Amino acid sequence: MPITATLINYRMLCRRKVWLHAHGIRMEHTSEVVAEGRLIGLESYPQRAERWTEIEVSGMLSYPAETPIELSAKIDFFDPHLGIVHEVKKSAAKEQAHIAQVQFYLYLLRLNGINAMYGLIEYPKLRITERVSLTDEDILSMQSQILKAHEIIQQEACPERLPISKCKSCSFFEFCWVGEE
Ligand code: SF4
Repeated sequence: MPITATLINYRMLCRRKVWLHAHGIRMEHTSEVVAEGRLIGLESYPQRAERWTEIEVSGMLSYPAETPIELSAKIDFFDPHLGIVHEVKKSAAKEQAHIAQVQFYLYLLRLNGINAMYGLIEYPKLRITERVSLTDEDILSMQSQILKAHEIIQQEACPERLPISKCKSCSFFEFCWVGEE
């Protein structure tokens, strides 16, 4: 499976979640989540359709990986004229994982020679916008994150659970903790 923005996002939260998702174990009703995200975006920013386009990109991380690692992303909102990635989060809190996700998009776009200046994460519930850049240092960090995500999904065994106190809002909660509360 290629490394995706979802896996990069999950790696910031839980190694086990990365492994489970990569092995096809899904607890989220992805279509509903995506639909909700789109709805919140469309309701909050009705003018977006004129400016933003959906784009799919893929690529390879050849170095410093020992064997090339496939990368893939589907970006819902991209402004090709200004080179801005747009992401809308329904969350009521900012998270480092959201930044990592948008940096992964920027990284992959640049790997493909596409002008990608910066990202904007909008939090309609918070009524704030977070600007996300991708510096040379961030690129090294992103490569490291990709390698780590790849290592996790290559493991034969599923990683250990986090402490239950960190699992309450995870979609895998029942999978990991059923019968043990
Ligand atoms: S329930 Fe906890 S251990 Fe299981 S995937 Fe989610 S965060 Fe990780």
